[in-house]
Amino acid sequence: MTVRVRLAPSPTGTLHIGTARTAVFNWLYARHEGGQFILRIEDTDEERSKPEFTENILAGLKWLGLEWDEGPFFQSQRLDLYRQAIQTLIDRGLAYRAYDTPEELDAMREAQKANNQAPRYDNRHRDLTPDQQAAYEAEGRSAVIRFKIDDSRTITWHDLVRGPVTWQASDLGGDMVVARASSASTIGQPLYNLAVVVDDIDMAITHVIRGEDHIANTAKQILLYEALGAAVPAFAHTPLILNQSGQKLSKRDGVTSISDFQQLGFVAPALVNYMTLLGWSAPDAAEQFTLDEAAQQFSFDRVNKAGAKFDWDKLDWLNSQYLHTMDPAELLVLAQPFLEAAGHTLSDADQLWLLPLIALLGPSLTRLSDVVDQSHFFVTETVPFAEDAQTQVQLDGVPAVLQGILDGLTGQNPLTLDDLKALVNDVTKAQGVKKGLVMKSLRAALMGALQGPDLMESWLILRQRGFDVPRLKQALALV
Ligand code: GLU
Repeated sequence: MTVRVRLAPSPTGTLHIGTARTAVFNWLYARHEGGQFILRIEDTDEERSKPEFTENILAGLKWLGLEWDEGPFFQSQRLDLYRQAIQTLIDRGLAYRAYDTPEELDAMREAQKANNQAPRYDNRHRDLTPDQQAAYEAEGRSAVIRFKIDDSRTITWHDLVRGPVTWQASDLGGDMVVARASSASTIGQPLYNLAVVVDDIDMAITHVIRGEDHIANTAKQILLYEALGAAVPAFAHTPLILNQSGQKLSKRDGVTSISDFQQLGFVAPALVNYMTLLGWSAPDAAEQFTLDEAAQQFSFDRVNKAGAKFDWDKLDWLNSQYLHTMDPAELLVLAQPFLEAAGHTLSDADQLWLLPLIALLGPSLTRLSDVVDQSHFFVTETVPFAEDAQTQVQLDGVPAVLQGILDGLTGQNPLTLDDLKALVNDVTKAQGVKKGLVMKSLRAALMGALQGPDLMESWLILRQRGFDVPRLKQALALV
């Protein structure tokens, strides 16, 4: 049997971290088993589904490296298939038209509430006579199609994550609506549980891997598989992603879309790595791995039942691990849009100083966006002076040191790191001061600050840009 799994996002919002994590587990399982990963867009909700959300979902999956083997298939193009299945259920006496008005359904629920009963449909239209049906039609009532649920049934399955799961059919809320807005001769809008089952049968899905919030749907869907005479696939319900207070991560928690994480400066390999760890752990306890490495070791035995708390510190740590070891040319391609978004216009000629700059900053970045802050020493000719830097350049003997450096620069135009080091040594000797004082003063003059990236490497970049001389002059003007 070839394993076939699917991701079935609804394009009613951008790609959510929960959906993306479900995609990760589907992808890992498919790759582990040498199976296929299918993408299906569940866009039957015409009002809430938007093409831009579909685009965002596809782009997000591609960005994360979660390429699919088949699809995307669109449920909106498959409505006839669902209607045929519903007709089959009706023909087999397993589904029927119910004509209750919203007011009648409300009154029924109110009565149940008053009797301390759980709200459910009481199946009152299950056995309408043709005359009763005709009368409702004549009144102009619209029907829904309901699938009969046998309350005496117990539904069980062996969940790949949760082990044996049991549901009483009587807890499923009565006969279930599978299509809306129908009439005696038409079948209206097919609904989620029916469409999913018809598609999963049609697409020969062997394993349904999805969030734990779908467990009650699974119980209903198993009844539909049986009614349609199809084999029931295996189910794996993955744990929810929780916020810091232990509740399901929701839009209210702020950042939840993959595109938001991208904009915050997380890189795809770090984010998928982190999402894999949200609920799964590697047998060798490794924390940093590629998707392919995780796929080799992936199994549901190591997926937790308990919810997985979202941990920003861990995500930041993983992201920094990727940034610290990334090839500078690759890092530059990823970082440049952040500089541009911060208002810096960069041309091809700028690559000359950007590449060494990125090589310099890479090992201290946590997020790509940090590059904006950390590169501020290098993007404009002059920089504001911090108070302690200003005090430093005004210390006794310091102006002479800075003048010595400035003279050395104009005199011999040194360019290499070694030339700059030699100049520092010469000035130290000539002024009869400690080298530490020269270095600290030089940093203050060149960067306008006493802290920052490696001084000599920074100087070399400023020199390439022609910024070092103006800055030394700027410092001397403060004296
Ligand atoms: N369309 C459903 C959702 O976005 C997924 C359904 C499924 O995986 O069965 O939650």
